[in-house]
Amino acid sequence: MPIKLIAMDLDGTLMSTDHITVTEKTKKVLKRAHDLGIKTVIATGRTLSVTDSVLEQVPFIDYVIYSNGAAVFDRCKGENIYSRHMYSDTVNSIIDILEGYPVYYEVYAEGRPHSEISKAAFFKNNGLPQEFLDSYMAAIENHASISNYAKNTDIEKINLFYFDGEYYEEIREALYSLEDVAFTSPVAGDLEMTCMGVNKGTALKGMCETLGISPDEVMAFGDADNDIEMLKFAAYGVAMANASDVCKNAADYETLSNGEDGIAAALEKFVFSRQRPKLLVSACLLGENCKYNGGNNYNEGVAKLSEFFDFVPICPECFGGLPIPRVPSEIVGDKVLSKDGADRTAEFQDGAEKSLYVANECNCTMAVLKERSPSCGFGLVYDGTFTGTLVKGNGFTADLLYNNGIRIYGESGIDKLLKEIQE
Ligand code: SF4
Repeated sequence: MPIKLIAMDLDGTLMSTDHITVTEKTKKVLKRAHDLGIKTVIATGRTLSVTDSVLEQVPFIDYVIYSNGAAVFDRCKGENIYSRHMYSDTVNSIIDILEGYPVYYEVYAEGRPHSEISKAAFFKNNGLPQEFLDSYMAAIENHASISNYAKNTDIEKINLFYFDGEYYEEIREALYSLEDVAFTSPVAGDLEMTCMGVNKGTALKGMCETLGISPDEVMAFGDADNDIEMLKFAAYGVAMANASDVCKNAADYETLSNGEDGIAAALEKFVFSRQRPKLLVSACLLGENCKYNGGNNYNEGVAKLSEFFDFVPICPECFGGLPIPRVPSEIVGDKVLSKDGADRTAEFQDGAEKSLYVANECNCTMAVLKERSPSCGFGLVYDGTFTGTLVKGNGFTADLLYNNGIRIYGESGIDKLLKEIQE
């Protein structure tokens, strides 16, 4: 089955060995996958705010699974679509244990890492590059008392950093005696705690069910123990060459290391060799006689795009139940009125919603739509006087598609589209 969603861990997987940059090659390949209509997902143990610098480099990413699966952020909607916090009694018990030892820990809440100023002295760098560490530390919100803060807040995750000294067994034994806690150690000596049942795999599974995507259509990349559930869920679970042995054992495939653009190599092999991008197109531009007067707007330049894309033709006004031929309509305020005064708003709205449904079903991320139309126009539309006068605005369908993350081009913007897909 074609891949419809790619989920990637960050450190050791998407990020270069410096933990800071995504290479140009990997960026380009991921963008190409996104343009094919494939949903792209970051799945990280980091909390949301610590992904900002990554998302600046790969701004097209659709979702972020963060804090090891405690929450999922939908970047198009700009909000969390899932969260599962730790029980407050469990959080208090963990903090009571940790407060008895000279250790550094953080709580992840409200999409940010939080710590206590007095604990900084216990932090040990376990080999992370200083530049990464500096930017990470700058993201932490410090409190006078972390236990007071945690008592009144929904906690995503608690992270105990690099504890390997004389208290190791003692702390571990006390923590492991608690119920309702899931433990993972993506880095040696690091112990991360979330609510029992929370991991990247369960978050990915829930997200795929919401999107109607089956495990057979999912590819996931990881390198560490906290990626195992995610790799097992995906039909294409891919371990990086630098992954831990236990992670490699959970995977279906192995690719090159993060330092060798392993994600790009796997996508070339499993995705691009099989798929061409889908392009939503106004059917009249392809010669379909669906225009109000029974004719079409055939455009040779648009037709030639078949060299690069598989077309998904739509005619929103036909989807909305309007006949061919029909009385022409134009937008007047928030309504659509036909030239004989009939209110066609409901039909245009219905056509727009059906067009969005088709776009999502076919994984279209780009559309070439007929300019100036009250359905398909984008940027300029007729002003409602039926005199050929243009005003700023979008057709009903173009507006809905655009607000759902689809890039819109008019028939005069084909060169721009071709330039963008070849970048
Ligand atoms: Fe063309 Fe769009 Fe009008 Fe249909 S609704 S005829 S596709 S411009």
